[in-house]
This record gives sequence, C-alpha cells and structure tokens, in this order.
Amino acid sequence: MIVQPHRIPFEGVQRTGEEPAEILLLEDDEEIQPFGPVVYNLHLQVALHDLIVNGSILVKLKRRCVKCTEFFPAEVSEPAFSRAIHLTEEEESVDLTPDIREAIILALCAHPVCDPGCKGLCTQCGANLNKQSCDCQQPEDIRWAALGNLKIEQQEE
Ligand SMILES: [Zn+2]
Ligand SMILES: [Zn+2]
Repeated sequence: MIVQPHRIPFEGVQRTGEEPAEILLLEDDEEIQPFGPVVYNLHLQVALHDLIVNGSILVKLKRRCVKCTEFFPAEVSEPAFSRAIHLTEEEESVDLTPDIREAIILALCAHPVCDPGCKGLCTQCGANLNKQSCDCQQPEDIRWAALGNLKIEQQEE
C-alpha cells in the first residue's frame, strides 16, 4: 500500500481498500492459507515530519488447528493499527505494506484451535476424535496414578 504524503490534505484522509493476501508472504507456510484480501480502513495524516496512520486491518485465513491438525477458517485483525513514520525531505511515497504485514503476523495467535472443545487426535491411532471415536485404551495419567497410591498408603497408617 503506497501512500504519497504530499497529497494528504492538512486535515488528513480516510483510506479504505484491499491489498492482495500475497503481501503477507505466506505462500510457503503450511499452517496458514489466506483466502481473501487484506482489508484496511486507515486514517492518514501528516503532522510535521511524520506520517500518522491509525485504523484497522483484517484478513481471512485458514489455519491449522494445533490439536486436530484440520484447517479451519479464522479472521485475523489488528483493530488498533497505529504507526508514525518519519518522513525525510526527498520522500515521495511511503510503502505501508511491511507494516501491515507485520501487524497481521503479530496478531496471529500462536496456538490456533478450531474450537475450544476440539478433542484433537488420538495419541495412539491418530484418529480425529471430533469426527470419530476409536477403541484405543487411553493410558492412565501417571501423575494421577501416583496420587491414588499415595492415598492408599495414608489410609494404611
Ligand atoms: Zn481442532
Ligand atoms: Zn485411537
């Protein structure tokens, strides 16, 4: 997204629009698939030697659930995008693309889950437990087993 600061009126200007999802440079990412443009709604203003940018950006993505590994649709947004970019005398245009990309990448949560109740995969046969059940015996949690033994010992005393 290219901005020409000298064309921005004194009172500022509202710019809304879209950028192709390619600006996020996620083509090689196996966990994230953009499916829609990056939508922005930004207020631009020049104050002394700074370009002041405030607004929101949003993109629709498909992300891979960390529990069941299925892709699910997610909306990632930065509702309080804010930048002050210092302008030099000779600068004709400012490219906001890297800033927009950075804001979206930072807004991505590190552990995406398709649903708070996602059952994930069976640790033994790999079945997606959201879609099917399996006959595997889930191993008893060792910590709880230890607690159980502790109780019995206390009762014996
Ligand atoms: Zn899931
Ligand atoms: Zn299983």
